[in-house]
Amino acid sequence: AKVIIVGGVAGGATTAAQLRRIDPEIDITIYEKGRDISYGNCGLPYHIGGEVAERDQLVAATPESFAERDVTVEIFHEVTAVDPDNRTVQVKDIRNDRTFDAAYDYLILSPGGSPRLIPALLDVPQAFVLHSLEHLDEIKAHIEEKNITRAVVVGAGYIGLEMAENLVHRGIEVTLVHRDTEIYRPLESDMSDFFMEELKSRGVDVKLDTEIVEVSGDTATLSNGEKIEAPMIIAGIGITPRTDFLEGSGIILNDEGYICTDKHGCTNKEGVYAVGDAIETNYHHVDRPVHVALAWGAHRMAYVISNQISGDSSVCFEGLLGTNIIRFFDYDIATLGLTEPELADYPHFVVDHRQKNKAGYMSDSVPIHVRAYVGKDDGKILRAVVVGTEGVDKRIDILSAHIRLGGTAMDLANIEVAYSPPYSSPKSVLNMVGYKAI
Ligand code: FAD
Repeated sequence: AKVIIVGGVAGGATTAAQLRRIDPEIDITIYEKGRDISYGNCGLPYHIGGEVAERDQLVAATPESFAERDVTVEIFHEVTAVDPDNRTVQVKDIRNDRTFDAAYDYLILSPGGSPRLIPALLDVPQAFVLHSLEHLDEIKAHIEEKNITRAVVVGAGYIGLEMAENLVHRGIEVTLVHRDTEIYRPLESDMSDFFMEELKSRGVDVKLDTEIVEVSGDTATLSNGEKIEAPMIIAGIGITPRTDFLEGSGIILNDEGYICTDKHGCTNKEGVYAVGDAIETNYHHVDRPVHVALAWGAHRMAYVISNQISGDSSVCFEGLLGTNIIRFFDYDIATLGLTEPELADYPHFVVDHRQKNKAGYMSDSVPIHVRAYVGKDDGKILRAVVVGTEGVDKRIDILSAHIRLGGTAMDLANIEVAYSPPYSSPKSVLNMVGYKAI
């Protein structure tokens, strides 16, 4: 059988590797429109900050290393149309400016999303996004060539915040411009005061409730009339799914352009699968569609699809909780489950709990704040939030596993934790959320 994969980064390269591992014979070709494949986008900001010392540490595989495993990789090849009835794709070889058709038995779509850019930044030479290795190289070259000591970050979502942190680590002075009135929308506003304190203490100049409307030379004008120095601008304001090329293919997209998939990773067209940031799937814990542009789902779906294609249809995608975590200087912020606006559709009560992350008498114990939104009828944890400076990752992962295995908020009281004073308390922070929910 012949497999064509569209997109060669997280979802695409992982599916190719899984498929080759399961099936040594199957014919696999990856078409990637960009220059690079199989790199860790998640690590890009950390190379700018220096925590990832070598750029090449971010590269997991190359066309050459895939060739050794008999996987064909065509870079600078863009799939421009799909014909599921005839099982062909149209491919544009960008470097040679020619177009050809390629036939498949199975097609796997992993086109990801395009980073958004505000209109005022469209033709600005010092305005960048950070979504690929090519972008990383451009940003690094700009910093070095122009001796950048100051930068503007647009957007206070997770990529904007990671950029701000990493630029500060690099010794660059940062102005953070955010259209909203609050930093990091995914976190409840009454839990997020620390962001402003942390930003201030790191010397980041924060401009809220405004946006860049014009850039002239190295000066940006904000909608509130203020002018700021902007010799480098990096925008992190979200993505839109790169699914334009599917227009006319009959493959069903949702209203926002995400590819609808079932629990086998299959689209509505036989033999056409989709994975990664461009898909719509379902929540694990409630029956509601969701799209989550994070790496865990891409890796899991890659495994599911490669098993499906290799004949093991028992391996299914069980939906997502959207479990996520970010580090922001000293803080860790993690959430899972429904968004705050979505909670409005589910009758629930809130359990809010603060406790030290380890025995309170330990001199280095620090507070940890957990909030759970609990379904009124069934005790289901609909959404959970964990914030603190240590031990947040452990709590969110326990919550994720607990929900995955059908545990309720009340059941949290029964989780037997590994306790000794440097790690937890005999009644851990999550146990206490359980006791409070009863
Ligand atoms: P991508 O990795 O974006 O790959 C899609 C590829 O498809 C692109 O290379 C594109 O050029 C190619 N393509 C698109 N259309 C076509 C076409 N028509 N023909 C040929 N090729 C095409 N996730 C986390 O879980 N944790 C993190 O900490 C985290 N940090 C991140 C930090 C940054 C800066 C970024 C950018 C992302 C981060 N992510 C993180 C998200 C994570 O990287 C994505 O969820 C993951 O990369 C999605 O994989 P994908 O294959 O869907 O898309």
